[in-house]
Order: sequence, then C-alpha cells, then structure tokens
Amino acid sequence: MKSILKTVLLLSGIMGPLADAQKISRMLEQKGPFRKDTVFTMTAGSKETRLPVILIKGKEKGPVFSIVAGIHGYEYPPIVAVQEITKEIDASFVYGTLIIVPVANVEAFHRRTPFINPSDHKNLNNAFPGSPNGTATDQIADFMTREIIARSTVFLDIHGGDANEDLLPFVCYYDRKDTPQNTQMAHELSVQSEIKHIVSYPYNLTPQEPAKYAFKQAVQHGITALSIEAGKLGTVQKENVDLIKKAVYNMLEHSGVYVRRKSKLKSPKAAIYLNRQDYIRVPETGIFYSDLKSGDPVKKKQLLGYITDEFGNKIQDIVSDSEGTILYKVGTPPVNKGETLFCIGYTQN
Ligand SMILES: [Zn+2]
Repeated sequence: MKSILKTVLLLSGIMGPLADAQKISRMLEQKGPFRKDTVFTMTAGSKETRLPVILIKGKEKGPVFSIVAGIHGYEYPPIVAVQEITKEIDASFVYGTLIIVPVANVEAFHRRTPFINPSDHKNLNNAFPGSPNGTATDQIADFMTREIIARSTVFLDIHGGDANEDLLPFVCYYDRKDTPQNTQMAHELSVQSEIKHIVSYPYNLTPQEPAKYAFKQAVQHGITALSIEAGKLGTVQKENVDLIKKAVYNMLEHSGVYVRRKSKLKSPKAAIYLNRQDYIRVPETGIFYSDLKSGDPVKKKQLLGYITDEFGNKIQDIVSDSEGTILYKVGTPPVNKGETLFCIGYTQN
C-alpha cells in the first residue's frame, strides 16, 4: 500500500508538468499567426509556483527564438525590457516562433529577493538541467530545459547586475570549439546586438556535467545560445532597458525571426572583445569600500578597494591580478567571504 501510494504521489507530481508540456506542443502545432499567454504550474510538496510563458507564432515557418528574463527576480531592466518587447511585437511580422518567459522566477521577483528563489533558497541560475521531482527551482529548470531550451533554435537569457551588483552592459556567449557553427552564430548575434562589450567564456563542460546556468545548458544541448547582461543595483535604468530592447530586436532581425524593416548588417568594428575573465573573490566577510565603478579600466597590482570589520579596522586590501575592464563588482557595503567581488574582463590573443 505504501509503495502504491508513493507511486501515485510521484505520478501526480509528474503529471502536472507533463500535461503542461503536451499543452505547449499542442499550442505550437496550431497555425499562426497567434499569441498565447499561458501559465505553467509546478507543485513541490505543499508549495506551488508558476511559470508564465508567451508563445508568439508567425504565419510563416522559421526558427524558434526563445527569450528569458527574470531568472534572477531582482534584475529589473531585463524584465522591464521584455515587458515592453512583448507589448510591441506584432505576430504578423514573425517568421517562426518566439517563446518568451517574461519572469522565470516569479517568487524572487514579487518577494524582492536577490539571486535565490525565497521558497526553496535555491539559485535558478545554478539549477540546470533541474529535476522534475525536486523543489520549485529544480522543477522550473527542468521544465525550461525540456520544453523551452530543447525546442529552441536560438536561446537568449537576459540578466543584469543583481541588487548589490554594479555592472557594465555586455553580451556574452560560450566559445564552444566542437560546435563551431553555433559558436559563430552566437558571435554574429552578439556583434549585431550593437552592445559595445562582447564577452566570450571558455567552454569545457563534459556532456555528463550539470550545466548549472540556463544558457550554458542550451550550449550543452548543441543550441545557439547567448546572454545579455545589462542593468544594476536593483533599480530600473531607462538606458539599460533601451539597450536591451535594441539588442533583442537586432538579434531577432538578424536571425530572421522578426523582420519589421530590413536594415543592413552592422559593422563589428565598434565592439570590444573580452575573451578572458578574472574573478576576485571576497577574502573575508566585512564592509567593502571602493571608488571604482563597472567599466573602469584596472591595471595589474592596482589597489581596487579594501574591506573593514564592523569596528572600522581594515582587514584586507583588494589588489588586481590582471589588467582589464571591470565587468561587474559588488556595489554596496556588505560582502561575504567567497562571493565574487570583482569580475575583470580582458583580451588574450
Ligand atoms: Zn542574473
């Protein structure tokens, strides 16, 4: 009896997302043009969470371009930019399909929580590929992996600096060497985005390793994937909302998914390529001081700031090991040992 009950419970746990998955494919089988706003629900124990998804299918066949915002619910410019884009997009100009997740982590968004989902204290951008039987965060990651990433031709995940992060806007992709066409496409889309700083990360994930990050999961699946990072410090900056919107429209147009007006290809000359990153971790928990901002250039051995205890005694100086540009840094006083304090991007030929 016990084992039967367990099976039934497990089935009921799985039935929700599975039934939802059938819903998404049934919807996409319908002829376009249409837009459907839908909500998928996930139940973990006594807790229920939801994932809003917007499907926009054009009349003509074409690629599937997926756009995700709000994997981190305190990163507002991506969420606001995607809100505006979904209001503006006209399905009659869509060639193929757009799958849009306007807020992937609604719990974090509404409960104003940086990095983690307050219902299970997990970071959604650390949870991929996820699990259908796990907590809310695991289930959202699993649903996105199976139902969104797996269907995508291009997967775009939009982030920014979180509540405490000062960040220079950039577009980024993984330099995966054994899928050169995807990597080249991600690079081209980055160039076409017209975001000035283009960052590429080394890729050395085995097929068995969990990808952790949403767009790295897509790269592991052999899908063209990239991420925009714009916005900072827990507020909505109009210039970053506009930068994200322009980049997304440029990418949609370049990939042929949304063509309002044919414009010629943008010259890549203006971009700055940063293919290496140096992460400086917080050496000791304390109070952080720095006069530097994201985007500032730094030199090797340069003093970047310092950390004190609560009595004002200096614990440690923070010194740069590399020459480059500050991509992001902690922009508020509290720091905890082991967190990323600075990310410095640089170029190595
Ligand atoms: Zn983020």
